[in-house]
Amino acid sequence: MRKRKFWGWGYEDQGLTPQEHRKLADRMAQRFGITGLTVSAPPTIDRIAMRPPRIAAPPALAAICTTDAHERASHTYGKSFRDLVRGFRGEFPTPPDVIAFPRDEAEVVRVLEWCDAKHLVAIPYGGGSSVAGGIEAPSSGDYHGVVSIDLAKLDRVLEIDRQSRAARIQGGIFGPALEDQLKPHKLTLRHFPQSFEFSSLGGWIATRSGGHYATLYTHIDEFVESTRVVTPTGIVQSRRLPGSGAGPSPDRMFIGSEGILGIITEAWMRLQDRPAFRAGASVMFANFMQGAAAVRAISQSGLSPANCRLLDPGEAANAGAAHDGSAVLVLAFESADHPLDVWMKRALELCADHGGRAPDPTSAANDALATHEGAAGAWRRTFLAGPYIHDAMVAIGMLSETFETAITWDKFAEFHAQVMERTADVAKRVCGQATVTCRLTHAYPDGAAPYYTVLGPARRGSELEQWHEIKTAASDLLIELGGTITHHHSVGRDHRPWYDRQRPEGFARALRAAKHALDPNGILNPGVLIDP
Ligand SMILES: Cc1cc2nc3c(=O)[nH]c(=O)nc-3n(C[C@H](O)[C@H](O)[C@H](O)COP(=O)(O)OP(=O)(O)OC[C@H]3O[C@@H](n4cnc5c(N)ncnc54)[C@H](O)[C@@H]3O)c2cc1C
Repeated sequence: MRKRKFWGWGYEDQGLTPQEHRKLADRMAQRFGITGLTVSAPPTIDRIAMRPPRIAAPPALAAICTTDAHERASHTYGKSFRDLVRGFRGEFPTPPDVIAFPRDEAEVVRVLEWCDAKHLVAIPYGGGSSVAGGIEAPSSGDYHGVVSIDLAKLDRVLEIDRQSRAARIQGGIFGPALEDQLKPHKLTLRHFPQSFEFSSLGGWIATRSGGHYATLYTHIDEFVESTRVVTPTGIVQSRRLPGSGAGPSPDRMFIGSEGILGIITEAWMRLQDRPAFRAGASVMFANFMQGAAAVRAISQSGLSPANCRLLDPGEAANAGAAHDGSAVLVLAFESADHPLDVWMKRALELCADHGGRAPDPTSAANDALATHEGAAGAWRRTFLAGPYIHDAMVAIGMLSETFETAITWDKFAEFHAQVMERTADVAKRVCGQATVTCRLTHAYPDGAAPYYTVLGPARRGSELEQWHEIKTAASDLLIELGGTITHHHSVGRDHRPWYDRQRPEGFARALRAAKHALDPNGILNPGVLIDP
């Protein structure tokens, strides 16, 4: 059986080759003017020392539970830089004791009953792609053990309502399987986070993930028609409705609940016809702020492009989208119904108003995606390879990580300038030298979501402390300057100190009360979002 890496992204046979690692190391050495970047070998499971499991599954659940070392290591961490470094070093001090793989909802109920009766931490697990410490066991508490509840076997589209264009889908399904099962019906969810390959529908809903759409339907939220959630006190199922004004939305309580209120076993999701028309362009700007002004104009025009991602000159160069110091806007419109040349023409006029140059606008009335070509194609290839390169950066001793946020347009210019300058100062002090680059991943009429990448040489053995110092400074800034601690990466455990400052106290009390009502013994993902 093909196994996923227990410490990094993808399957064991995927990732950069030794030659590609060496090339990456040489490129980094050249970029930062350093020598001595060596490629370390990844860990092997037989060399990992883990504490023995403290609990055993009851006989009735033994068939769906395992204490296999590879599984326990795989379920210990998510996929942030901090996670990859710890995994790569072979440090697994707090693995889950047991991994449960329920095959249906009834088994999810039984696993939760066991955890509740024995006071075991229960961690809902989708694809394990969390970058916020969302699936990691808490390091303290009076729990008798930790069970990771992996929903991978809940992987089917159960029912399709063609008339309303919606489907009932199981929570553990990964992106590719979900789209494969919708394809014969000529339908799509069209939610493509960068982690699409190894993340699940339940995980997307639980973390309010941000997908392919750069405007309008930016988060998974808009596609959720109803949810079905198993909690320690029973099942909560909302009614399927296209819209409703009947009080606070039950779905909205579970969307973004990060596994602390219950396990999303199913959801009815709003679908779309597969796009047949596309128009794409890469627009060059002399600088990032001119590009941002164009993004604001487009966001406020009502045009709603599917893609509207602005790369600053550093990101554009890294992606191979521009090498002349330009910022690049990757722009695309999609429709199942009509050609988009008129939309694209108007968007390019708005770009031109702000100094944008578009050498290669293309349009297509078939699946030959216009955005596969030119600068947009270069960006897309880098986007898809990103997770594998993230792993490789750890292997060659580079510090490479991202943080993201959102801010209203009125504060954007000052906010962005401060974040770039002050984060770069800290990163350079910590790493000796470093770059901070930015792209706008999502755009709204009232603001944008900047996404920052920090890259610099790490000191082997001190990577965690180095990143902690940069991340703390950056997160303090985001909150101090009026942004959010996360636009779509979720809160998890890692963002708690800043989420606690951002969220209104009255809301925290209400969330604690909701948790107490659904999970009175506080077994579900304790420490994520709130303290039980
Ligand atoms: C390389 C990379 C790229 C990424 N790109 C994006 C991106 O483009 N957009 C984006 O939004 N995020 C992105 N992320 C972050 C991550 O992929 C998302 O947070 C994703 O939604 C997590 O889904 P998952 O199935 O992997 O959930 P997991 O990591 O398994 O879990 C995440 C959280 O959700 C809870 N959870 C999982 N499944 C359920 C369920 N069925 N019921 C209740 N709770 C559940 C878990 O307990 C945990 O708190 C990226 C991460 C990586 C590593």
